[in-house]
This record gives sequence, C-alpha cells and structure tokens, in this order.
Amino acid sequence: MTALYIALGVVVVVLLAALLLVARSRRASRPPSVGPSAGATTLEKPPPKSKAKAPKPATAARAAARAAATKSKAPTRPPTKPATKPPAKAPAPEPVQELDLEPEPEPDIAVESPTYRSRLGTVRGIFSGAVSALRSGKIDAATWDSLEEALIRADVGVQTTNALLADLRARVAAKEIASGTDLLSALGEAIRRLLDVPDSRQLRFDGMAGSVDVWLVVGVNGVGKTTTIGKLARQESAAGRSVLLAAADTFRAAAADQLGMWAERSGVDIVRGAEGGDPSAIVFDAVQRAAARGNDLVLADTAGRLHNKVNLVEELKKIRRIADRDPGNVTEVLLVLDSTTGQNALIQAKQFTEAVDVTGIVLTKLDGTAKGGIVVAVQRELGIPVKLVGLGEGPDDLVAFDPDAFVDALLGLD
Ligand code: GDP
Ligand code: MG
Repeated sequence: MTALYIALGVVVVVLLAALLLVARSRRASRPPSVGPSAGATTLEKPPPKSKAKAPKPATAARAAARAAATKSKAPTRPPTKPATKPPAKAPAPEPVQELDLEPEPEPDIAVESPTYRSRLGTVRGIFSGAVSALRSGKIDAATWDSLEEALIRADVGVQTTNALLADLRARVAAKEIASGTDLLSALGEAIRRLLDVPDSRQLRFDGMAGSVDVWLVVGVNGVGKTTTIGKLARQESAAGRSVLLAAADTFRAAAADQLGMWAERSGVDIVRGAEGGDPSAIVFDAVQRAAARGNDLVLADTAGRLHNKVNLVEELKKIRRIADRDPGNVTEVLLVLDSTTGQNALIQAKQFTEAVDVTGIVLTKLDGTAKGGIVVAVQRELGIPVKLVGLGEGPDDLVAFDPDAFVDALLGLD
C-alpha cells in the first residue's frame, strides 16, 4: 500500500515538472512585447484620449498578442507525452494560463465607398427616356421636349435649362452636332462646363505649428450638418488627423447626444455644453482644449435655429470670429444644403452666404432624390465650390464632389 502511495506521488511530481517545462518553453517563444502597432492596420490612430476609450487599443493589443501566441505555439511546442498514464484518481493539474484574453473584438468592416452610379438611381431614371432616344440616334421635337422636362424635373433650373438647350439647338441647326449620341456628349460637356469653378474643391487644412484648424459647419435644421461632421470626423481621423468635435448646436440636447454618438463611432473626443448654452463659448473652449492637447482640427457643429432672440446671422458671425481667434484658424466654413429641397436650398444658401464667408458647399441626400440637378444650379448661382456630397446615411457615404463622375452618372454615360 505504502509503495502504491509512493508510486502515485512520483507520478504526480513528474507530471507537474513536465507541465512547468512546457509553460516555460511557451513563454520563451512569445514575442517580448506586443503593442497596438503589432496589428496589420496602417490606420493612424488619434492620440490616446479619454479614459472611456482606453480599453480599445488595449483590446487590440491583446488580440494581437493572442494572434502572435497562437502563431508561435504550433511549431515550437514540444510533444507533451506523459511518462506514464496518470492514474484516474490523481489530482488534475491546474491548466496552464496563457493570457487573460478578452473576446476577439469585432473586426472593423471595410465599407466600400459609394459610387455616383450606384446612388444616383432616381435622377438617372428621369434622364433615361431622353438618353435612350438620343442613343438610338434620334433628334426630333420629342427628344428636345423630353430633355427639357428631365432637366427641369431634376432641378437644374429653368433659366439654366433654357440656356443649355438654346445653345445645343443652335449647334444642331448649324450641323455642328449631327447625331443623337453627339448631342448626348455635347450635353454632358455643357453641364461639366457649368460645374467649373476656379476655386479648389479640396478641403483646406493649414496645419500650422501652434494653431488649430477649425472647420465650421452651418446650415438650417435637418439638412445633415451633424451627420456630415460625424462622417468627416471618421475620414479625417483615418487620414491621420487628430480631431476634436465641438457640439455648438445647443438648440436641443439631442443634437449634442447625436454628435456624441458619432464621436464614439469615430474614436474622437467632443466638447459639449448645456442645452441653450452659448455656442461661441463651446467653440472657444474646444479650440483652447485642442491647442492644449495637440489636436489638429476642430469640427464645429452649429444650430440652424436659436433659443433666444439673437439673430442667427449675428450668432454665426460671432462664432466665426471667436473660432478664428488665436490659436484658432478657421480654414473652412461649410454650408450644408439638402438636395431634396431643390430650389429652396438655393434660397437658404443666399441667406447664409450673406452672414458668413462660406468656403464650400456640402450637398447632402443626393441618394434617392430626383433633384440631383440642384448641384448644377447651386454651383452656377453661388459660384462657391461644391466640395462634398452626401450619398447616404452611413459613415462612409460622404464623398468628394467629382463633376465628371457626377455628369456621367446623371446622363448614364458611365
Ligand atoms: P442637422 O439638423 O443639419 O444636423 O441634420 P442631421 O445630421 O441630424 O440629419 C438629418 C437627417 O438627414 C438624418 O436622418 C440623417 O441621417 C439624414 N442624412 C444626412 N445626410 C444624409 C445623406 O447624405 N443621405 C441620406 N439619405 N440621409 C442623410
Ligand atoms: Mg444637427
């Protein structure tokens, strides 16, 4: 009996020694340190932010550690053949703890950028009748009528439509344009020319040492300002800029909450104040904090309405003035217009451009509207470059405005 106990004891000791060896050899085969940069992504993360966001890189690091550990495990692990078969009653050895891992984080799903072709379906439908008639070679009274109707229905504007068609008719009469297909490409060219602007469509970012670029986003309620800022925050962070959001739409608390959700989604911080608070004070605070923390860019949301009797125009002027105070440097004032409102968008635009020096237009909701031609009207009447267009509600549905791709999609030339 004693001999049996001794034998059992020896087996347990041998087992524990074997396990210890395995554990050591595994530890030795692990990489010495694993940081966030061990991941495959080339995306530059913004600098570490508030405590709430701290777990994110840590989780990524642990996931990378797990990947590295799993990789190195298979080839280096020695065969763990037990010397003798352990007796059934022997105490089960503690399992070797590898790492205290959290569940694998959700992969960041790469969303493909939307295309004009895929998102401008409704307005393309308006032109499709006239376009297929032209493609078949026909240029008759019915073709001119359907072209005119399409341009007006798409909100290109009556005057612009008349001017466009008068020029094309003259060229057809002069036999300069002989076929339907030639007329279609001449129309495309003419619309492209209408979209020409001398100013760059690039968003301006100075990035001067000791100063913070500020992009103010203005426009009436519901046009898509907050959504646009959310999308921009994501894109600018992905481009390596460190972004801070300023929730200066204090008209409703929900507006700051909505911006907060986008901030979380994009992994950027947000400065917000109380409902009904002074929007200029929030922008001022955001610029100060951005300068202190080394953020590159402040994206400021503004209200389309105000609580108090202060004129919106005056309030916007004040916000701009304060945002531009050192170390702030206002490099963009983006006016957001909802393309589904058609010609109304133009009326709004005129009011805002009188209040602030608008540097670029963002035309939202071009997806699913028949009024895509408003881009032409806005560009022609305001002379301010349309810089961005919204092609949906998703985080990647904001794209740089590309006139060629737009015209091709409008007329089915792509
Ligand atoms: P704000 O009041 O100007 O800040 O407007 P919001 O950003 O709150 O947007 C108003 C509504 O328009 C929301 O339901 C958005 O999801 C929606 N929206 C914004 N941009 C787009 C766009 O490009 N396409 C579509 N389909 N909806 C959009
Ligand atoms: Mg808003």
